[in-house]
Amino acid sequence: MRYHTFLIKYGEIGIKGKNRYLFEDALVRQVRFALKDVDGRFEVHKSQARIYVDCEGDYDYEDTVEHLKRVFGIVGICPVVRMEDRGFEQLKKDVVSYMDEAYPDKNLTFKVEARRARKSYPLTSMEINCDLGEAILNAFPGTKVDVHHPDVLLNVEVRNEIYVYSQIIPGAGGMPVGTNGKAMLLLSGGIDSPVAGYMISKRGVGIEAVYFHAPPYTSERAKQKVVDLAKIVSRYAGPVKLYVVNFTDIQLSIYDQCPHDELTIIMRRYMMRIAEHFAKKDGCLGLITGESIGQVASQTMQSLAATNDVCTIPVYRPVIGFDKQEIVDIAEKIGTYETSIQPFEDCCTIFVAKHPVTKPNVEVIRRSEERLSGKIEELMETALQTAELIEVKQSV
Ligand code: ATP
Ligand code: MG
Repeated sequence: MRYHTFLIKYGEIGIKGKNRYLFEDALVRQVRFALKDVDGRFEVHKSQARIYVDCEGDYDYEDTVEHLKRVFGIVGICPVVRMEDRGFEQLKKDVVSYMDEAYPDKNLTFKVEARRARKSYPLTSMEINCDLGEAILNAFPGTKVDVHHPDVLLNVEVRNEIYVYSQIIPGAGGMPVGTNGKAMLLLSGGIDSPVAGYMISKRGVGIEAVYFHAPPYTSERAKQKVVDLAKIVSRYAGPVKLYVVNFTDIQLSIYDQCPHDELTIIMRRYMMRIAEHFAKKDGCLGLITGESIGQVASQTMQSLAATNDVCTIPVYRPVIGFDKQEIVDIAEKIGTYETSIQPFEDCCTIFVAKHPVTKPNVEVIRRSEERLSGKIEELMETALQTAELIEVKQSV
């Protein structure tokens, strides 16, 4: 079957009044972004509290649906056959052909639901329902009408053309990106942080990201892996601004001056400070990490408290209560897993202690950090100044 349009269904809760426009405009923007690299020409527009994607000429149906399924805020995607209005007798024939092609097995119950956006149409909605229903019953004796729980709800929308649809492909849910501000994701090359970014973005939050590398201890390939992960997150989150921070000198300084069992915690605190700097500069309202309680020594409740101690904006940790396997399941679903498991070194794994503290005391950590003062300020400044900015825009 050739579909000419997709009707985009979105959740209505909480989007009354002025918010509705913000929500719809953000959704239109995200749909356009998602389709920009798909083969075909697409016209995305709002009309009478609905969003339509008109497909002009040839396009790849599967690929289009795949991309639409990534747009947060969409509850359902309905592929529509547009029929020219050539009179009601012709419409009956066209609708019967639609049913014939869409449902090879005619042992089904159905209901016709007409809606007239064009009020001048000569028949009322009720008349359209009855007469089309009758035409279908006559054409396919195996079918029955069921107005309460039909197998097939056949929607017939009378506009300039007649829009016919009956399938709903489930969408990603959530809220359109851009309706809930921005947050700064600490994006490592691991499994957890891309999932964390995806989850916050799902609630309508735009994503910026920061990655800490430690050349020459970490390779260009490790950095490329993070750029690749940002690209995958960007399929859902829209364009991602990625800061790549050279963390080597800060790490070496911590390694030289501080107790080795506290290295990871102190390093994390500097990561948070730097991430927060960029977050505030760009108007991000929170930080996002892929931390999960107890996963490693630096993620015990005490370690999280010690890391959090330096943050003055909220830190969102959407996978905090998830087991690793639950995070892996989401990573597989969103397509980051294969990239995340590529074996490249991470700056955290290079300067790691054999026996890191698992119950750090915040006061003790603060005192250890004092050993860095006098020099760390300049290293921080250099790290901020020399950060590389990569605009990740891919939607493929
Ligand atoms: P993942 O790396 O995917 O988060 P992980 O289990 O390896 O999983 P950790 O290395 O303990 O997690 O890091 C905890 C969190 O700190 C990460 O989820 C990420 O948000 C942040 N983080 C760690 N290393 C880096 C890095 N090199 N650059 C940016 N953020 C990082
Ligand atoms: Mg990691």
